[in-house]
Amino acid sequence: MILGNWKMHTTRESALTLASAMRDLATQSDVPVGICPPAVWLDPICQTLRDSRLWVGAQDCVGDGFGAHTGCVNAAMLADVGCQFVLLGHSERRARFAEHTDGLLPAVAAVLETGMFPVLCVGESLAERQSGDAISVVESQVRPLLQAGLDLSGVVLAYEPVWAIGSGLTATPADIAEMHRAIRAVLGLDDAVVLYGGSVSPDSAAEIFSVPEVSGALVGGASLDVNKFAAVIAAWEQR
Ligand code: PEP
Repeated sequence: MILGNWKMHTTRESALTLASAMRDLATQSDVPVGICPPAVWLDPICQTLRDSRLWVGAQDCVGDGFGAHTGCVNAAMLADVGCQFVLLGHSERRARFAEHTDGLLPAVAAVLETGMFPVLCVGESLAERQSGDAISVVESQVRPLLQAGLDLSGVVLAYEPVWAIGSGLTATPADIAEMHRAIRAVLGLDDAVVLYGGSVSPDSAAEIFSVPEVSGALVGGASLDVNKFAAVIAAWEQR
């Protein structure tokens, strides 16, 4: 699958225009394609895309039920709106809000309960890569999933080296393959869906997608441009 993370970009008008263009891309492709617009645009976009092949996901949610949680959005609300999936633990949220996998487990469980799928993002910093700790850091971000009694077959992982996000840098094919194998080994699932993210673009996609361990991509910047996103999807189709 190829998923786009729009982060905190777009106005209502540009988001609806982009979503319509992405719907056409998804219609023309056999590859499952999804977008994660900002939360405020989810409802109008889900309405516009009703009955289309394009998945819509949220960029985050909390694991709580309804209640006194000012500023929060829960999984039931997102499913009600029409989302199919939710990103959790993106490195920008781990850095800004001190999120960690343990604290995200209620959200992972809540997303699964609604019938949506969670995409748990994991990845090492540049310092951790340079000190040789990348694998152990990412394993420690994945391992808490095992404690929660979750149906892990419904959980998608996204390996996103923090230093590769928005930087134009990408991990080497060998490092990507090694990390995807390590993630599946922790999960104990040979067929776990593990995406790669970090500067996936029309220029980098073919090399990344040549790695057999990669199940698809989580795309940031290039998902805001319909031509670039189309080229990434095409690279997957031609891999
Ligand atoms: C991301 O935000 O998850 C991401 C991978 O961004 P970019 O593709 O811009 O590096």
